[in-house]
Amino acid sequence: MSSRIFLSFPHLSGNEMKWIDKAFQDNWVVPLGPNVDEFERLLGSYLGKDNTVVALSAGTAALHLGLVMLGIKAEDEVICQSLTFSASANPIAYLGAKPVFVDSEPDTWNMSPEALEEAIIDRKKVTGQYPKAIIPVHLYGMPAKMNEIMDIANKYGIPVLEDAAEALGSEYKGERCGTLGKYGALSFNGNKIITTSGGGALICPGPDEAKRTKFLATQAKEPMPYYYHKEIGYNYRLSNISAGIGCGQMQVLSEHVARRRAIHDLYTKLLEGVKGIHVMQNPSKDFNSNFWLTTISFDRQLNINPEDLRLALEEKNIESRWIWRPMHMQPVFNNAPYYGGNCAEDIYNNGLCLPSGSNLTDDDIQRTADAIIDFFTQRK
Ligand SMILES: *Cc1c(COP(=O)(O)O)cnc(C)c1O
Repeated sequence: MSSRIFLSFPHLSGNEMKWIDKAFQDNWVVPLGPNVDEFERLLGSYLGKDNTVVALSAGTAALHLGLVMLGIKAEDEVICQSLTFSASANPIAYLGAKPVFVDSEPDTWNMSPEALEEAIIDRKKVTGQYPKAIIPVHLYGMPAKMNEIMDIANKYGIPVLEDAAEALGSEYKGERCGTLGKYGALSFNGNKIITTSGGGALICPGPDEAKRTKFLATQAKEPMPYYYHKEIGYNYRLSNISAGIGCGQMQVLSEHVARRRAIHDLYTKLLEGVKGIHVMQNPSKDFNSNFWLTTISFDRQLNINPEDLRLALEEKNIESRWIWRPMHMQPVFNNAPYYGGNCAEDIYNNGLCLPSGSNLTDDDIQRTADAIIDFFTQRK
């Protein structure tokens, strides 16, 4: 059996232990510490947003605190892209707030500006209030149509929290994803562009908001000689050990992004002639995806069940994954309002995520492409 090709696997630089050893030597085996400060500094500098990045225990924690910073409370409505991972929407429920899901558009697979505005106008009619926040997602690294989304958000005075968990290194009109809305959330889970084993970050509008986010993330302890609390806090800071891994990963972030893009280019070339398959592409020069995952879609008239292709790849020891199942199709969000048509559902039913880890070789990509071509040839 050929060796297994994974979807997206941790890819270490080899230097991570340097920071971890230092943490052990100095006994900084705690949340917070010099590695956390350094990791935040490196991220801020990479994103062009110094002193605004707060390292946290997970991307989910970043989204949760982002909503807290926006003042979201129980019963508030929050608009969220439907085609995403559940962690985009769960933090809305943590706060007792109500998700309102919005369809995608075909160019980016991300939030449809038209469906967004329809949702805003209709929620105002139904509840008498505009929704309190908007969460667009840069799914698989592809930037959402942020100009259009920000124009609508600003028109109605609704703040935007970007879910950039999959999009570290992606750019929209030359600006880094995660810095385009009021707040932005990043993830450093094991399968993301860089990993801290588990972790995330909230990108804040300025140093004051970053300071307050850190305060909330460390149990909202007031500066008193005894424990004194005026607000509900969270235990969401990144550990100094995990941040050490992050510092090592920052050395190779640009290389990892370049490699993911090269893998995408290779898939594009290898699958070019195959009728009925389309490799997802940047819709224009304004979009520069990190191609965290390369995805394909199938011509609808072929009526391909993604599970058949997934199993055909699995037989050759290649891991692939269904497109994320939209939130409005999840039992847990059965009662949430949904705006738009069937774009997200259609993408879900007619596509697949391909192995895209930055440690995959050109031969791995070739083997995967060959397996896809075999599948399509045998179907005829
Ligand atoms: C991974 C992911 C998250 C959550 O990040 P964690 O670090 O795993 O908590 C949120 N949104 C999207 C779109 C993700 O892919």
